[in-house]
Amino acid sequence: MQSQSQLTSSFANRILTWFDSHGRKDLPWQQGKTPYSVWVSEIMLQQTQVKTVIPYYQKFMLRFPDILSLASAPQDEVLHHWTGLGYYARARNLQKAAQVIRDEYDGAFPQDIDDVVALPGIGRSTAGAVLSLACGQHHSILDGNVKRVLARYFAVDGWPGKKDVEQALWQYSDSLTPSSRTGDYTQAMMDMGATICTRSKPKCDSCPLQQGCLAFAQGRQSELPGRKPKKDIPVRTTVMLIPMWQSQILIYQRPPAGLWGGLWGFYEADTLETLDEAAQQLGLSDYTRVTLEPFRHTFSHFHLDIQPVILQLKQPTSLQVNEKQQIWYDLLNQPNIGLAAPTKKLLTICETQL
Ligand code: SF4
Repeated sequence: MQSQSQLTSSFANRILTWFDSHGRKDLPWQQGKTPYSVWVSEIMLQQTQVKTVIPYYQKFMLRFPDILSLASAPQDEVLHHWTGLGYYARARNLQKAAQVIRDEYDGAFPQDIDDVVALPGIGRSTAGAVLSLACGQHHSILDGNVKRVLARYFAVDGWPGKKDVEQALWQYSDSLTPSSRTGDYTQAMMDMGATICTRSKPKCDSCPLQQGCLAFAQGRQSELPGRKPKKDIPVRTTVMLIPMWQSQILIYQRPPAGLWGGLWGFYEADTLETLDEAAQQLGLSDYTRVTLEPFRHTFSHFHLDIQPVILQLKQPTSLQVNEKQQIWYDLLNQPNIGLAAPTKKLLTICETQL
């Protein structure tokens, strides 16, 4: 029977030995690591895969190379660099946290984990990842990859989003994380989950943890970790108005809080029947309707069925836009602003109408 300290060191040693020969060491955020670069990458990697994140990360770091440049940038530009990554609250919180660091920590990323966790948008796992990867501090993490590896290795039943299951996994993570080479171990566990102990078809034959893995021994890889209980999410509908004059399209900036907060999008009507009324309120009347293919955009808590309608204006409108909240978006000279995903998709369709 292994003691706890033997288990910890054997687990960590196997992970670190695997990391030395197979771990990822050439990702853009692993070069010239700083707490800022690791933090940005960790936030982008939440809900998003490495290969999708890389080009976004590179452009983001070119424009916002440090905490101060991010803190002082217009929010619109930050959202513009996030357009396509989704979950925009991540970008807004990243900038808010950069402003707190500028104002309260003289622009230097805090080194105390409690201070880091207190920043907007940073949970315990992200804080642990930044401080261990960039500063070599001894903290454990529990992101989606690590949850999967530990739930399988120890056959922890139940959905990891449930408090008691999450707590059990934190205990395993805390007890296994070594105090030396913590950053490498953290990176190794993330890499293991992303490349070996994958959601479907884990590569158990190449896994350094095969010996001792309960899910492998019991053939339960596909049922662990437990799935989130399914619940039906409601469907909402909307009609999006796309007033268009030549290459110009009228859009507005949504309020800072709520759905697509701070992003630019189209005005909406409840139904096709109330579309003309909504257009009239905008001062638009002389147009031809072009009804586009409807599509569904799914949020975590509801589906949104969108019916887009182009209002092809027959003459230049006298509508005076308020530049702060409305703009004529020029498809031939596109401004750097943050767009909601359906807005971006519809603007691309409009380009085909030119
Ligand atoms: S043996 Fe298979 S299930 Fe177990 S940790 Fe390794 S890859 Fe995951």
